[in-house]
Amino acid sequence: MVDLARRNFFKAKKLTTAPAIRLPWVLNETTFIAGCTQCGECLTSCPENIIQKGDGGFPEVNFLKGECTFCQACVESCQQPLFAERALASEINAWDLDISIKGDCLAVNDVFCQSCQECCETEAISFKYINSSVPQPQIKLSDCTNCGACVAICPQSSIELTPKKFCG
Ligand code: SF4
Ligand code: SF4
Ligand code: SF4
Repeated sequence: MVDLARRNFFKAKKLTTAPAIRLPWVLNETTFIAGCTQCGECLTSCPENIIQKGDGGFPEVNFLKGECTFCQACVESCQQPLFAERALASEINAWDLDISIKGDCLAVNDVFCQSCQECCETEAISFKYINSSVPQPQIKLSDCTNCGACVAICPQSSIELTPKKFCG
């Protein structure tokens, strides 16, 4: 019989690229890699179509394809015990991601743009003049749900969401 956890452990050891964003409410990277069977159910269940097959065949979220609505369809489609139970009723703590705006942002380069603010439902992004000719974007981390809506809308792909911890 194939030892799934052992097989996935060795597969995970081969992953060398930047940390992937897994599904919302996943317990942690180690549990995910050990327990995911790569059945693909979560990929087809996501109505936003933002889950893709990543390195090593494991699912990952790609916010360049769209935003997470926290609908929980991916969690419900998964037969493995990979998710935090208490979080299932809320969009809070769906992920533990860092969010940042890179230097190629149009506003940072004195070109007017506020597209990211317009798409942010929780109004976590605001604009202020900071020794600049056009208002500069600022993200209030406590209001950011990590939904990723601002990622695909940005004409420069300047907004990055990355996992805070990686223990693959
Ligand atoms: S919670 Fe819904 S929108 Fe978000 S990744 Fe899962 S299936 Fe897709
Ligand atoms: S949408 Fe992108 S380019 Fe425009 S202000 Fe926001 S981060 Fe900058
Ligand atoms: S990821 Fe955060 S800043 Fe971006 S749209 Fe969602 S809530 Fe707003």
